[in-house]
Amino acid sequence: MPDQPSPLDPRELKDIGGEALELLAAYWSRLTHSSKDLPVLSRVSPGDIAALLPAHAPERGEDWSTILADLDRVVMPGLTHWQSPHFYAFFPANISTPGVIGELLSAGLGVNGMLWATSPAATEIETRVMQWLGDAIGLPPRFAAAPTPTNNSGGVIQGTASEATLVAMVAARDRIRRAMKANAAAKGGTVSRPEFVVYASQQAHSSVVKAAMIAGIADDADDRVHVRLVPVDRAFRMRADVLERWMREDLAAGRVPCFIAATLGTTGCTAIDDLDAIADAADRVGFFGDASSRTGWLHVDTAHAGAMAICPEFRAALHIGVDNRGINRCDSICFNPHKWLLTNFDCDCFWTSDRRSLIAALSITPEYLRNAQSDAGSVIDYRDWQVPLGRRFRALKLWFVLRRFGLDTLRHSVREHVALAAWLEAQIVADARFELLAPRTMNLVCFRLRGGARASAADVDAFNKQFMDRINRAGQMYFTHTVLPTFDDDTEIVGSHVALRLAIGASLTRREHVERAWETISHAAGATTAPTS
Ligand code: PLP
Repeated sequence: MPDQPSPLDPRELKDIGGEALELLAAYWSRLTHSSKDLPVLSRVSPGDIAALLPAHAPERGEDWSTILADLDRVVMPGLTHWQSPHFYAFFPANISTPGVIGELLSAGLGVNGMLWATSPAATEIETRVMQWLGDAIGLPPRFAAAPTPTNNSGGVIQGTASEATLVAMVAARDRIRRAMKANAAAKGGTVSRPEFVVYASQQAHSSVVKAAMIAGIADDADDRVHVRLVPVDRAFRMRADVLERWMREDLAAGRVPCFIAATLGTTGCTAIDDLDAIADAADRVGFFGDASSRTGWLHVDTAHAGAMAICPEFRAALHIGVDNRGINRCDSICFNPHKWLLTNFDCDCFWTSDRRSLIAALSITPEYLRNAQSDAGSVIDYRDWQVPLGRRFRALKLWFVLRRFGLDTLRHSVREHVALAAWLEAQIVADARFELLAPRTMNLVCFRLRGGARASAADVDAFNKQFMDRINRAGQMYFTHTVLPTFDDDTEIVGSHVALRLAIGASLTRREHVERAWETISHAAGATTAPTS
């Protein structure tokens, strides 16, 4: 065969890898300095990129020059620039140089850290980094302490918050099932398969429902018998009074409350559920069992907001740091450094105070995975803490981010984003054309253009969406919308409306970018006529 490329060619890695890094460096400069020719939201139509690709894979290897040229020709037009300083959509997925270098090295080392034995460094660095980060966000030792034979704590990197919620729910389901079986056996009986119920607020992320579907608790995405989505109060927090009432109804109907997902920083408007009100309500209905047979599981999803806890002054708002209250009453917590802590996707940090239940629910050991250290029980095998068997060396990038920046720089980055959001909020509040639609709790501002006094709700919604689409199409910035409930004078939900969201958290976003975003929005509003009737 002529000239087969070697799979691992050190020369090629240096030459072409170097060229690829040059391309990335030029891209990053372009994001900052000449963003005008890079529309933040991709402008291609469905199928445009696929049409540029041949129908079949090449039979013979191609030159690097041809391959890399397609970055500009094929890839770039189809990119939405998440790292642009003008990216305000969804939540950020901010990255950094140490994060990228960690990813690169992890790819090049090419190890699979499924077992301690398959790369001890991958496991032991992950354990230590999870302990560092747990301490850094103020988690108590029952979560953040490194696992030992005598404690039940533990932290692990999952791919995403969705996976974290899923593994927590599976652990909860099995823990309660075991407790019920043991109780029944003590009385000489057995239990049939119980009907479990999961609770979260109406503002919780859809990953809670999805986890219940995968865990076999919900029949389908619309099953509101087994996944109860509790209404929210005017601050968009789960209503603990309704949670308590629904739990009592479920118990009376013979169903078993199994799992509560509280959210600190909801996806729609970064509302922060009141953990103590939730835990008190759950306690009153016996959700937690007694100290000897703890059963129901309280999980905290703080996928986006958790990064904020790196700053001590923000912890109280996230219910972190008060003895025996807030987070101390929960069984697990997760947050995504890949959203707002300068760490490349994918990196979700998950801690539990009951790792034994987690491992009991997820561990299975075929002969081909057995080895002396695992058999001796002297090591951590993270495969038992997650859904897949194989696992990437994700800890490397997080380790690099923590070491290169130090906690100080990370705190500075979060504080700056929160301050910029406060500045934007002040502009919106001072401008009578706009209204705020949710309390600002961190780096997200939810607002809209007001309609005229007699405009219908549907017209104002449509008008706001058109307003946002027009700005996004122009390419100078990108932001997105959600739908939030509306209330009567009391706390009852009577309807909903469209809210525009600006999340400030991209790695490169600075004051001048947010000022420009406000200028763009304000100018576009000046050129818009609000519906009146
Ligand atoms: N939970 C919350 C509160 C979120 O905001 C999101 C995504 O934005 C998720 C979960 C899902 O995150 P992931 O993509 O890591 O599964």
